[in-house]
Amino acid sequence: MQRMRPILFIDRDGVIIHETEDEKIERIEKLTFLEDVIYYLRKIKEETDYLFVMVSNQDGLGTSYFPDEEFWPVQNFIVRTLEGEKVKFDAIHIDEHFESDNHPNRKPGIGMLESYLTGEYDIANSFVIGDRATDVMLANNLGCKAIYLNSIYSDKNIDAAFTTKNWKGIYEFLCP
Ligand SMILES: [Mg+2]
Repeated sequence: MQRMRPILFIDRDGVIIHETEDEKIERIEKLTFLEDVIYYLRKIKEETDYLFVMVSNQDGLGTSYFPDEEFWPVQNFIVRTLEGEKVKFDAIHIDEHFESDNHPNRKPGIGMLESYLTGEYDIANSFVIGDRATDVMLANNLGCKAIYLNSIYSDKNIDAAFTTKNWKGIYEFLCP
């Protein structure tokens, strides 16, 4: 029997690219990647068989608050840049609801991710990599583990399998 693949559910803002104070990256001028993120994502991809799944809340995407034509050029640039360095995501899930919508697709809800819970994947050995308490809650809701990347939020009472300040730490944890 073929081994079930585990998954890395990877947050975008604050994990792949730097979060901004207004929590919105609508112009390429505001975009910067985290230090070493592409280098270590590539190494993890080369040395493991994790599926790479991006999961991101983008509050109000598609509304006048955050129009599609502001979001997608930046998102597509991120994806293109990663793919150019051989970091291809197997899937990308972006929720556009505001927190006040209480929509099941918005992290920590798992509405967008139920297709991974059908027994085809090794969820128990999968991780959410995120920089907020809601990412750790998402891991709990999925039944997988969490890697918490310290961030500008410095949330307290984080119960993650591993906490680190940088991608080197994540790499060394996943590829000991
Ligand atoms: Mg984040």
